[in-house]
Amino acid sequence: MRGAFYQGTKRFGVGDSPPLPPKAGEVRINIAYGGICGTDVHIYMGHMDHRIKIPQVIGHEMSGTVAEVGEGVTEFKTGDKVIVRPLIPCGRCPACEAGHYTVCHHINVLGVDTPGCFQGSWTVPAETLHRLPDDIDLKLAAVIEPAAVGAHALRTGQITGEDYVVVIGAGPIGIMVALESKLKGARVLISEINPFRINVAQEFGMEVVNPKETDLPAYVLEKTGNAGADVVFEVTGLAPGAEMMTKLARSRARIVIVGIFAEPAPVDLGRIMWRELQVRGVRLYDAVDFETAIPLVAAKAVPWDKLISDVRPLERTQETFEEIERGANFMKVLLNCSD
Ligand SMILES: [Zn+2]
Ligand SMILES: [Zn+2]
Repeated sequence: MRGAFYQGTKRFGVGDSPPLPPKAGEVRINIAYGGICGTDVHIYMGHMDHRIKIPQVIGHEMSGTVAEVGEGVTEFKTGDKVIVRPLIPCGRCPACEAGHYTVCHHINVLGVDTPGCFQGSWTVPAETLHRLPDDIDLKLAAVIEPAAVGAHALRTGQITGEDYVVVIGAGPIGIMVALESKLKGARVLISEINPFRINVAQEFGMEVVNPKETDLPAYVLEKTGNAGADVVFEVTGLAPGAEMMTKLARSRARIVIVGIFAEPAPVDLGRIMWRELQVRGVRLYDAVDFETAIPLVAAKAVPWDKLISDVRPLERTQETFEEIERGANFMKVLLNCSD
């Protein structure tokens, strides 16, 4: 079987990646599709070399079917459609002892700290698997992982059908957060400046405002009877989003930080005090978030396929990352790992 190996900054090579027979407690999966995520782009750019054992197959968003089960595995059988929750918390650090597995101090992210899913066959511990409905389209199943990030963000923001929600940033995760909030019955507004992403969000029927063209804080006040938003999700990880988020929030609003801030960004602490705002961080997901995301994607209440910009063979991994680096208009690109 084939695999896409990260070989160092901005280089992938596609080569043989022999299937690993599952040990006790493990499952070997035939991968159908692997989704390219922002983390993979960081790896490609060479930002995460301290965690990678070069050459290494990367990738952590996927769908597939069980090929073989190791000794002692009874919950899964050959042919089951599955996805992997690509995290192995250490179980011993203070965060794990408190049950905060998503922020484990020594977390093993499969596809980063150990080999990933951009290959035909992947062998992982059975406890990382989630079973999928038999009739699910495995292409759509590859977007369950970002949907689980969204589910965790909604859980942290305690979204209800009464809320007015603003999502700053309409990348794949921002779209997920917005769609899942809307499915909860909330009123949702997206803030986005990129025309391609504005268009995708509108294709999902979302209301979008470009804060470069519209006075966004004034617009939100107008829509909320002068109150402001009940919940603001910051999903850009950039300073303008951090500056905007406090301006949109009503008294005692929840602000949820979902975007990854590579650099510290200025935040209006005075406003947080004055309006008694609650700022909450959210990272990765727990098992419960996959159990929320799986039926959401399987139910087809939303045309999830609009999130998939293209499906490509593994051989095109290098050129796909080059296109992403050049700023190509993609939401999710899937790699077909099965041929
Ligand atoms: Zn990801
Ligand atoms: Zn831990």
